Amino acid sequence: MTNEPSPPSYHMSPDEFRWHGHEVIEWLARYMETVDDRPITATVQPGEIRAMLPDVVPEQPEPFDAILSDLDEIVMPGITHWQSPGWFAYFPANTSPPSILGELVAAGLGVQGMLWSTSPAATEIEEVVADWLVGMLGLPESWKTTGPGGGVIQMSASDSTHTALVVARDRASGEAGKMVVYASAQAHSSVEKGARVAGYGHVRLVPVDDQFAMRADALEEAIEIDIAAGLIPVAVVSAVGTTGTTAVDPVRATGEIARSRGLWHHVDAAYAGTAMVCPEFRHFQDGLELADSYTFNPHKWMFTNFDCSLFYVADRKPLIEALSILPPYLRNEASESGEVIDYRDWHVPLGRRFRALKLWFVLRSYGAEGIRHHVREHVALAAALTDRIESHPQLELVAPTPFGLVSFAHIDGDEATDALAEAINESGWAFVTPSTIDGRRFVRVSIGQTNTTAEHVDRLWELIESASSRSVDQ
Ligand SMILES: *Cc1c(COP(=O)(O)O)cnc(C)c1O
Repeated sequence: MTNEPSPPSYHMSPDEFRWHGHEVIEWLARYMETVDDRPITATVQPGEIRAMLPDVVPEQPEPFDAILSDLDEIVMPGITHWQSPGWFAYFPANTSPPSILGELVAAGLGVQGMLWSTSPAATEIEEVVADWLVGMLGLPESWKTTGPGGGVIQMSASDSTHTALVVARDRASGEAGKMVVYASAQAHSSVEKGARVAGYGHVRLVPVDDQFAMRADALEEAIEIDIAAGLIPVAVVSAVGTTGTTAVDPVRATGEIARSRGLWHHVDAAYAGTAMVCPEFRHFQDGLELADSYTFNPHKWMFTNFDCSLFYVADRKPLIEALSILPPYLRNEASESGEVIDYRDWHVPLGRRFRALKLWFVLRSYGAEGIRHHVREHVALAAALTDRIESHPQLELVAPTPFGLVSFAHIDGDEATDALAEAINESGWAFVTPSTIDGRRFVRVSIGQTNTTAEHVDRLWELIESASSRSVDQ
């Protein structure tokens, strides 16, 4: 036996991984404990983070401790703290401890779940969580994978909506350039983008009512005008909770129009879908049984970190027909038996990670009861803030507060409203989004970050109160 030296390895050993893994978990736990003491938005200048990094990759391996310490020195100054309880901007992009741990396990297993046979648990757990959510959110029973429909996890609501528009286009006949998609004037930009990518010739943004919900009569009228002009109405997207003000489009009336005209009806509930865990909000989704597809994002309000968007179809046949392509190297007995789901046929990408795992961890760790509890807490806080704004002489609401988003303005006009948002954001611990609706500036306060409680909203109200009277004094 010759005494050959073992070949070099640059891999981290399981023992080193164990050690550094504990350090990383400790680092994250400390982050959770201190996130609300940090300035909520990054104050770096463009290029500042980049300037701290070398232009070329290190030739020699670096110790893991050096990487970790650069997390503090280089990365953290450029982080905007979406996980701070003072996060009232945009919509939440929540995470939670069980979600982080599920994500970690998914990374560790590192499976590709493109086919059932490439990791059966990845597919079957995804089916189960998608089916659980049907019951938990009061969605139509036929959307379960055990029925004609089914749910799949995609990266984002934008992908889900794009996919829905591809299926609708595939099912329709005629020139794509003559095909039309309808959505409200308040629809998310992903509708327009999805339609463009899917090759539609036209997107009609339908006028809204005084609560910013799509007008069913205006939808009907737009369809008639297009038919008369020789165009082909193909799909309509309605929103349960628009991004601007969480307005709710008339889902049932839209579904009835879609049915009578042969249009595909896709429902975008990216943010507000989570609220449906509470039965008292389900009247907002009345008529879903007339929808062909639906999307909502657990990665917004359901304590599951990005990316995790559910996409449901009432009937999976047209979806699979539109997206299935079978190269010979993917042929296998399980798929050919027709007894399994191959999720690669449910969206554009082939490869897919085990995203269901973190959602499964979250749903089990919180239970439906835990999610309901925190959603109700956030909505109650938004309702209380709404009352305070209504009774404040210098402030007024610009839209109703059906969920966790409060939309309001200063009565003195756009400048005062912008000054108010700026004063809040300059506090360094709270962050809101100024926006525009109907040509008027307003402040969006979205209450729904995982750790936001009454204490944080009270503190925000103190800021709003002092800033709104200050702008009057000027
Ligand atoms: C946030 C949002 C989207 C986009 O979600 P992504 O997952 O980031 O693509 C789409 N529609 C509505 C109504 C939203 O609020």
